[in-house]
Amino acid sequence: MNLLLMGLPGAGKGTQAEKISEKYNIPHISTGDMFRYAMKEGTELGKQAKSFMDQGALVPDEVTIGIVKDRLSKADCANGFLLDGFPRTIAQADALQSLLSDMNQEIDYVLHVNVPEEKLVERLSGRRICPTCGRAYHVMYNPPKHEGICDKDGQALIQRDDDKPETVKNRLAVNIEQSKPLLDFYDRKGYLVTVNGDQDIELVFQDIQSIIEK
Ligand SMILES: [Zn+2]
Repeated sequence: MNLLLMGLPGAGKGTQAEKISEKYNIPHISTGDMFRYAMKEGTELGKQAKSFMDQGALVPDEVTIGIVKDRLSKADCANGFLLDGFPRTIAQADALQSLLSDMNQEIDYVLHVNVPEEKLVERLSGRRICPTCGRAYHVMYNPPKHEGICDKDGQALIQRDDDKPETVKNRLAVNIEQSKPLLDFYDRKGYLVTVNGDQDIELVFQDIQSIIEK
């Protein structure tokens, strides 16, 4: 089962990825993990990626694709894989198509966990942090016992700048613009399946299972 997972920040992709990975015994491969692994192993591509990142530069596609290829060739991908955070561009998506075709493989589904933008703003901007102990809360989903106060040490909770609604909206807008061409690309190829992410975690996972097992 070769899967791609797509969704905006706050859509709950990480949680679903863990569940899919466990249930279908396929590795959850995120771009960050892939890079960290290649750098830790000290492969030639890992070294190249590191030198770009150390300079604060974007890692070129040919290096990234090479790292993806190495990762997908590992033994734990025998049952398939769940790619998360890659590809990010049409050029990378094209490269992935030819890479998979060289490996005699194909994508089964591109799962798009879809949550309305206003719900994402609500989810992402509701975070509150305790500046003393670092404990995280959410005004709706995980509120402290007393509003605005840390349960553990009584400190007043703060909202990080990253979590302010305007910042969240801007971040989402950038992500929407980047992912739109990819969603269209996979839709045209017939791989794209949209899952309603605006429901209970278990229900989202049930929907995903019924797609995969259809
Ligand atoms: Zn605290």
